Amino acid sequence: MASEIAPDVYAMRHSCAHLMAAAIRELYPEAKFGVGPPTATGFYYDIDLPEPLKLDDLQKIEQMMRKLRKKKLRFDRRELPIEDAIGFMREHHQDYKVELLQLLRDRGTTAIAKETGDDTAVDGDQSGVDSVSFYTTGNFVDLCRGPHVENTGQCGEFKLINIAGAYWRGNSDGPQLQRIYGLCFPTKEELEHCMWQMEQAKLRDHRKIGRELKIYRFSPEVGAGLPLWLPRGTALRDELEFLAQKEERRDGYLRVVTPQITKEELYYRSRHLPYYAEDMYKPFEIDGERFYLRPMNCPHHHQVYLAEKHSYRDLPVRLSEYGQVYRYEASGALSGLTRVRGFCQNDAHIYCRYDQAKDEFLKVMRLHARYYDLFGIKDYYMRLSLPDLDKLDKYVDEPEKWLAALKIIREAMIESGYPFREVEGEAAFYGPKVDFMIKSVIGTEYAISTNQLDFLATQTFDLTYIGEDGKEHPVYVIHRAPLGSHERFVAFLIEHYAGNFPTWLAPVQAMVVPIADRHNDYAEEVRNLLFDADVPTGTGGLRVEVDTSTERMQKKIRNAQLEKIPYILVVGDKEAETRTVAVRLRNGTDLGAMPIAEVIARMRDEVVNRRDIELPVIETAGDATAH
Ligand SMILES: [Zn+2]
Ligand SMILES: [Zn+2]
Repeated sequence: MASEIAPDVYAMRHSCAHLMAAAIRELYPEAKFGVGPPTATGFYYDIDLPEPLKLDDLQKIEQMMRKLRKKKLRFDRRELPIEDAIGFMREHHQDYKVELLQLLRDRGTTAIAKETGDDTAVDGDQSGVDSVSFYTTGNFVDLCRGPHVENTGQCGEFKLINIAGAYWRGNSDGPQLQRIYGLCFPTKEELEHCMWQMEQAKLRDHRKIGRELKIYRFSPEVGAGLPLWLPRGTALRDELEFLAQKEERRDGYLRVVTPQITKEELYYRSRHLPYYAEDMYKPFEIDGERFYLRPMNCPHHHQVYLAEKHSYRDLPVRLSEYGQVYRYEASGALSGLTRVRGFCQNDAHIYCRYDQAKDEFLKVMRLHARYYDLFGIKDYYMRLSLPDLDKLDKYVDEPEKWLAALKIIREAMIESGYPFREVEGEAAFYGPKVDFMIKSVIGTEYAISTNQLDFLATQTFDLTYIGEDGKEHPVYVIHRAPLGSHERFVAFLIEHYAGNFPTWLAPVQAMVVPIADRHNDYAEEVRNLLFDADVPTGTGGLRVEVDTSTERMQKKIRNAQLEKIPYILVVGDKEAETRTVAVRLRNGTDLGAMPIAEVIARMRDEVVNRRDIELPVIETAGDATAH
């Protein structure tokens, strides 16, 4: 994370952490300091204090920080031999700094960064640590490698936001420090934008909205990390699959269905075993043979490819499946729909010739862009993971194949015209990988989709085609999943739309509200007419419900609005007589009485184009609004 921050912002945030520590030292002279690295939005500092801080205390600290900021205290650097440094920190009762210095002396800087999560704590290389740098800010002296801004007047705009417990050096048997989080930005506007974003993220939290809108549930009897998709959440999945099927068919994909368990030999062949075993669940036996829950769909799809012989004229073969997979996650890491133990991927594998690979990859990128346009995702980029190219031959058998695959991907990315970044040092051994990074309307970044160009599967699975020359040739495999998994993508969509899904996607598209019991029959008739109307949806017809509860009309309307249902169709005597409905939108807009055919035409328009005529805006104060 920290490595992607601009260097000047990095120095400012890091300096701001010093400023906070200096303020805390003024207020709590007995404070002992751990580490305080910069973060993607500011910084934190782990501090040992005699008593737990309350949120109110943060204001006091902030005030002191402002006071010290005004003084424009310089960040003065000095060097000390390591033994003197240890003595100095011991004298000042800074036990944690003493520990860090000893760790530095005995094991070098890398160990410190690894154990504390702070790579700014100390200077120098692994080897030959004999002196360390200190920075003084007013009365506060910190062990630090820098860099800093010149003085405390340049620490930017900050806000302390939270306190949490943090174990020293991540060790749960060791002392627990208080971690104080701060935001820090060059300008007030950026700071305020970040605070707005955090507030919106809370209002739009998919776990909160997912519960309110009855999208999914966890049951302790089923198990953590194994979501149960409720009827309304399942409607979302149905629509996404309906969309994917159509877009994929258009691009020449064929759908397949494969089992979720497999004999262990398949995973030895695919090299998931033993290399990926940590992420897989323990095997089980059926009639004396060992089986696994599948962590990936690829080996199954390769078996489908192998079901028949392919000539050069058959390629590309594009096999798609919304495939359920299971991967191990530690219980502590599980979170809502974003970190789960079982999920369903928008998966596909494209088997092609070398000369087709670039065009196929480009097509996959264009498919992403079509989806993003549809969902109003404006901010996205591709992230190409590269290995350390100088050392490529050390961990790849055939570096020239790797480089050939890389060339294809680079060309396709450039030709696409979409923004991309290259990141070194984290590529897969079987080929280059491109992740699509997308941002929700409030700016949260999600990694949804991973794409790979794989030249190794042809060896491990003997994936070949018969060329014009009558001989066998290797195929290239593209792995792709533009809509990621249902779980993560729906979590994204909930935040992105704040639960106000566009009509085509809304789990319930219209709620019919009979004014009195005697209007229930007509309400039911309206529902059936809408369902039977010629509107293509993923659920066989428009999703319409009738509110037959005993609530009063106003309350029924309010409930439908809270459920974020796009259309509310009120029916009473007049409507029954004139074969109309009184149309309200969830944002409060009153469209008045409309003939049923007109409502159908309007909804059809929105569903077919997958675009709402009027963007939903919820006017209720304090509610999350869609932009
Ligand atoms: Zn520093
Ligand atoms: Zn795959």
